[in-house]
Amino acid sequence: MTTKLEMNPSDWKLLGKGQANAVYQYIGNTETNSTPSHPEYKNKVLRLRLSVTTDLTHDIYNYIQLPQFDKLRKFIVPMELVYLGSNFNNTVQQREQQEVQLNCNDTYGLLMPNLFQGESKAHTLKLNKQLSFHYTDDLNYLLLEFKPKWLYDLPYPDQHKCRNCALLGTKDERFVNCTLKLLKGDDGVRDWCRGIQNEIDLRAKEANGKEQLRLKNLKVFDKLFKILLDNQQVFKTLYELQNKPGVNFHETLKKLPILEENVDEEFILFSMTLKDVSIIIDLNSGDLKLIDLDKKNKDKFAKWSSQEKKLNPFYFKD
Ligand SMILES: [Zn+2]
Repeated sequence: MTTKLEMNPSDWKLLGKGQANAVYQYIGNTETNSTPSHPEYKNKVLRLRLSVTTDLTHDIYNYIQLPQFDKLRKFIVPMELVYLGSNFNNTVQQREQQEVQLNCNDTYGLLMPNLFQGESKAHTLKLNKQLSFHYTDDLNYLLLEFKPKWLYDLPYPDQHKCRNCALLGTKDERFVNCTLKLLKGDDGVRDWCRGIQNEIDLRAKEANGKEQLRLKNLKVFDKLFKILLDNQQVFKTLYELQNKPGVNFHETLKKLPILEENVDEEFILFSMTLKDVSIIIDLNSGDLKLIDLDKKNKDKFAKWSSQEKKLNPFYFKD
């Protein structure tokens, strides 16, 4: 559904930016008894594309509507494509010249619920590059943000590590908690959650003062375990969609841009999109949402291929 909105750039304030997108929070009027009033934007964010991107918001939105995403649909954060006109990004860009470089050819944005509503009062605990908690002192706001990355069966008999664990190892991350456990039934899920709680408890021991007290109170295991048990399907579906029988994805990427017979370009791009999604879990409400389903482009082939070649030896190291 496309909506033409009378959007005022000054009603939107920068919340944050990633590699490809900047996210804005509505700060205009949401009271129904005043004009102009936009109660429909309450607790919403507007996502705009950055200048480094070639795929515009419209392309991304259409991509996510494809039937290949249907099995994940109920987990994907609801989004609305909104037409902003040709000047919106330009105006925002001029206001924030230092902070963001927006794609000023884009005339659309994505309107989505703000999953990080308590963020202004929250602390962030980053356990590694792929996993963080956002929480307030009273734990009334408690989110887990993480990327499950590659979900697959290890293809080599002498492989010691999965791709995620190998990658975190090369980045000298001390906390490595194998995401493949999430595919191994209740015991695997319990193990994964236990790993997280143990690491938090360890960080608490190492911290001082107020931070130590905060981390000591950060008990997530029970809630996290229950939510993940109830939602094991999302990991099974990501696994199923990321893979294809008989295809070794490591070897496939290493050989790019040459394609193996049983793999097509579309599958590689789709699989890479699903290897980069983020999952946001609200530990209080139990809500689990998938975000960042960005369309990947074949101009990344060379980068993916060289990354895989570099990473290869680390699969076999302890
Ligand atoms: Zn692993």
